[in-house]
Amino acid sequence: MSLIASNLQAVHQQIARAASAAGRAPDGIRLLAVSKTFGADAVLEAWRAGQLAFGESYLQEALAKINIIDTAIALARKKAPPEWHFIGPIQSNKTRPIAENFSWVHSVEREKIARRLSEQRPAHLPPLNLCLQVNISGEDSKSGAAPEEAEAIAREIAALPNIRLRGLMAIPAPTDDPLQQRAAYRPLRELFERLNAQGMALDTLSMGMSADLAAAVAEGSTMLRIGSAIFGGRT
Ligand SMILES: *Cc1c(COP(=O)(O)O)cnc(C)c1O
Repeated sequence: MSLIASNLQAVHQQIARAASAAGRAPDGIRLLAVSKTFGADAVLEAWRAGQLAFGESYLQEALAKINIIDTAIALARKKAPPEWHFIGPIQSNKTRPIAENFSWVHSVEREKIARRLSEQRPAHLPPLNLCLQVNISGEDSKSGAAPEEAEAIAREIAALPNIRLRGLMAIPAPTDDPLQQRAAYRPLRELFERLNAQGMALDTLSMGMSADLAAAVAEGSTMLRIGSAIFGGRT
């Protein structure tokens, strides 16, 4: 078995253990393999091992990779091409290629960006799945909507055509302390529950990376974004 395939297996075992510890069913937790900075070969290796959803952060790098990989898979006449998720910062003049090439965007922090994605989503594609990124670390320097504005922005986004608001995403300030990791994610879960109590049908809490997977699962994550534990360290 390749290293990436065995890393994937280990991550699935970690998810199963974390789910069991939290009294949750592991099939309620999706794994997004974050392949930024890794080449098409690494993605294809993970795809051959059964991984379908991949996250990318840098647009030019992602577009080149998507082209190579989707072409290779189409030429091999294989079913189930990868599902591409954009998880990086979005400049408003770069929304069109994102709307055209991705199934999901996790890193939307303003209504304006969502509106452009909605306008630029090609008509032959299904609605673009979006998560609203929320700044849960409270630092001005960090990306994401301010928590106090997130409810209003989520309602505006949910009303757009060609977009399906699926949920919320956050990147917390890094810490090794599992209790602090959980405490950072809790407000995001509470916001998610509040929005659903108000009638939104959100099904996605995009939270958890290699270093805080278990804490994110304990706080209700439904989609983990895991890079280094699958593909190795980034330089
Ligand atoms: C790089 C990245 C990840 C993956 O981080 P790892 O620590 O490598 O698991 C997850 N989410 C976002 C938004 C990222 O940019």
